[in-house]
Amino acid sequence: MWSLLRKDVMTVWQQVELKERLVRYREIFQGKRIPRYKLARLFFVPFDEYKDRGELLDIHEHYHTKFKAWLEEKQSLPLEKVEQEVYTKHTETEIVNNNYLKLKSIILNDILSSCEFCETRCKTNRSEGKVGKCGVDGEAYVSSSFIHMGEESPIIPSGTIFFYGCTIDCQFCQNWDISHEFDLQRFKGRGTSSVELASMFYSLVKQNARNINFVGGEPTPNLHVIFEALLITQVDVPMLWNSNMYLTETSMKLISDIFDIWLPDMKYSNNECASKYSKAPVYWDALKRNMKMIEQRGSGEYVIRHLVMPSHTKCCSLPILDWVNENLKTPLINIMAQYHPDYKVLQTDRFPEIGRRVSTGEMHEVRSYADKLGLYWKSVS
Ligand code: SF4
Repeated sequence: MWSLLRKDVMTVWQQVELKERLVRYREIFQGKRIPRYKLARLFFVPFDEYKDRGELLDIHEHYHTKFKAWLEEKQSLPLEKVEQEVYTKHTETEIVNNNYLKLKSIILNDILSSCEFCETRCKTNRSEGKVGKCGVDGEAYVSSSFIHMGEESPIIPSGTIFFYGCTIDCQFCQNWDISHEFDLQRFKGRGTSSVELASMFYSLVKQNARNINFVGGEPTPNLHVIFEALLITQVDVPMLWNSNMYLTETSMKLISDIFDIWLPDMKYSNNECASKYSKAPVYWDALKRNMKMIEQRGSGEYVIRHLVMPSHTKCCSLPILDWVNENLKTPLINIMAQYHPDYKVLQTDRFPEIGRRVSTGEMHEVRSYADKLGLYWKSVS
């Protein structure tokens, strides 16, 4: 049915360049590779969960390199074979209590008590129910979950889970009702548990989801619940991180080798524009670091989303394309034209320069520059 709605879902894989860029992702939903989270759950790591965060992070870093090598070796084998191998060396209890994914989950829950999941670093004690600058407390609040047919063609049908709350404050936000203007009191204490989240994964995969797509708002404030759900789910589809990428280096260390595919936003190429329009003062530094971490530590498979903004081609769009071209190995970029004035831009007169749609001339300028650089963008834009 969905292939009738979006014929490009079938034809997109005929493009060799795209196939090469997303080979691992594709093989996971074809059942030829094991999702990363499942291997992380089978990878034995000796640790004492009562050690302090610094020591646990050191252990995590020590085992990151070993896990990466082990994953490369095992990812294309049948899962049963890997399980057999693992259980000849360790008991089931040992693996359940001391695996690489569990270590990550313990560290994330520890960070929650002085939260630094994102670069806002507001250090809110969310474990005690306090509300962080992202607008949520220690629970995860899901606004909706459904099969999304509007994403890029290699991604759909996508099992998308929208979370309330956001770590940056885009003044033109088009999802403001779930990012910023929701009434937490209405559902406080009735958040989505890890078990409920895992059952959403199952239900989405039953409806033929090709991936589980964590989005929002922003998924970052919910990392602790998402990782707990990954400890119990059984679905065999790629895990997709769809985010503004305003995560701290520590958060990135913990998640970079778990997600199979990434949909990172790249909005601005300087901290000034990011501060003015999204209240994200270290945006460009964090984004550059985090993009490189996806390639150096993770799957290296992603579709960048760049939303072209009015009056921002020279200061943001073109420098982003330059940076992507010079610094990333396998860039695949969706150059998006769907900006429209919304939220604070409509409510105040502080942002007249972005109070209109992007012009045809601006889109042409950005897309022809991408062509000039030889960037691969058409099949996902
Ligand atoms: S995720 Fe929320 S609570 Fe945590 S540092 Fe960011 S804004 Fe603060």
